[in-house]
Amino acid sequence: MIQADTLLAHLWSTVSTMESVETTANAGADDSAPRPARGAPDWVRRFLHVIIEPRSYLNALYLLTAFPLGLAYFLILIGGAITGALVAGILIGLLFLLAVLVAAWGFALFERELAIWLLGMDVPPLSLPNAELVSPWRMLVRHLRQSTTWRSMAYLIVKLPFGIFATSVTLALLGAPTVGILYPVFHLLDRGPVPDSIGLLILPGIPAVLGLAVALHVLNLIARVWGRFAADMLGVSDEQRQVWEARLKAEAADRSRRELIMNVSHELRTPIASIQAHVDSLLLPEADRPDAEETERRLRVTAVETRRLADLIEDLLMLARADANELKVANRPTQLAPIVEQVVLALAPLARQERQVTVTLERIPDGLWAEGDADRLAQVLTNLVRNAINYTPEGGVVSIRVTGATDRVQIAVSDTGLGISAEDLEHVFERLYRADSSRTRDTGGFGLGLSIAREFVEAMGGSLSATSQPGLGSTFWISLRRGEPA
Ligand code: ADP
Repeated sequence: MIQADTLLAHLWSTVSTMESVETTANAGADDSAPRPARGAPDWVRRFLHVIIEPRSYLNALYLLTAFPLGLAYFLILIGGAITGALVAGILIGLLFLLAVLVAAWGFALFERELAIWLLGMDVPPLSLPNAELVSPWRMLVRHLRQSTTWRSMAYLIVKLPFGIFATSVTLALLGAPTVGILYPVFHLLDRGPVPDSIGLLILPGIPAVLGLAVALHVLNLIARVWGRFAADMLGVSDEQRQVWEARLKAEAADRSRRELIMNVSHELRTPIASIQAHVDSLLLPEADRPDAEETERRLRVTAVETRRLADLIEDLLMLARADANELKVANRPTQLAPIVEQVVLALAPLARQERQVTVTLERIPDGLWAEGDADRLAQVLTNLVRNAINYTPEGGVVSIRVTGATDRVQIAVSDTGLGISAEDLEHVFERLYRADSSRTRDTGGFGLGLSIAREFVEAMGGSLSATSQPGLGSTFWISLRRGEPA
């Protein structure tokens, strides 16, 4: 009896410590790592683990219900189709066939859910969403044309023979072990731990546990094979999914192109109207022309607007190049200090004179190099610092800080300006987006600068992001891969 107790305790400890098996298996890549000493060899644990795995019982449940479900589908679909074909009135017959089609689709949806929840399969959707509103007739035609409609119908019919096999194998394999386990347990509960019931736990108890493990392994295998088949038959194919995703992408690109054209036309209107008005006024008959001072003012406005238009066109060309993957960015190890210092040197005096904004640069740690394009990086940084100056009220401060980590370097441009609301912050990198607070200000921009800056930084393998506290200021971060001096 002592031997039996030891054996039972050993079996139980083997099964209940199985959770660690998965971890060992996953970590098994490193075979040289010493493994902790355990009570039973790995293969025994793996063999018995199936008993405490919930998925085994879900699989068994799936297989057990396969026959009744298969039979129900078969009777409803074949019965409906035959009735539909034989009914005297054409219309009623067609209605029957339509009902069969709808029922088949419902069964297929249900089967897909079963395969996901009970078999744990990853099944693609049965059909791809379509935003178009179509008539019921067109929906029917499309449904009939879809290959998944016919594949899923074939699946539902095949489910009957499979169900006969699966349910009978499950009953046969699980029947004996279940009786072998339950009988001694009930005996034990009924009579208490007398030698008779303890003996029953060993024979047939232990063979029943082993039989249960074997049965569950076999059932898991059948469930896995059928699950793969279900995933193939009940979901759209990868090819269809790819075509659909490509179509969505093309539609989105088309929509954004149309929006861009509309927005750009809108943006062009104001400066062109202003240039036109000024030029027209200068072409008036001598007597009606403005005086020399006013003429000069108008010419200056015209010059500013013309420059803005030229900048806008330059930016649009840049974005078009980015869209066509033609953005030329020559990435090479680039020393950061000279670039940052040059930008600060160029913008700081102007900021002080024109807006009384102080631009500061913290000491740059020695030897900071990044992977990037020096000219493009200077362009991006100029944009960020210029924005920071523009959106900071007089007396404010714009500070630039460069830091390095093991594999990345960061350039932070902070200001004590207006800040950007959380809602706007999500969109400031979008084309032609300008935050509300700045719309009324004459900042001179068209809302393209940040989207171009992001394209450049991403082409350098980095990222551009922003944080902000409305009313207190914003920080824009350029993060680049660290580079080694060439
Ligand atoms: P713009 O040429 O209009 O400045 P950008 O693409 O550079 O276009 O910026 C988009 C919008 O983001 C700006 O219109 C402004 O509303 C907001 N923005 C950018 N930088 C700042 C900043 N430092 N502080 C506050 N708002 C900013």
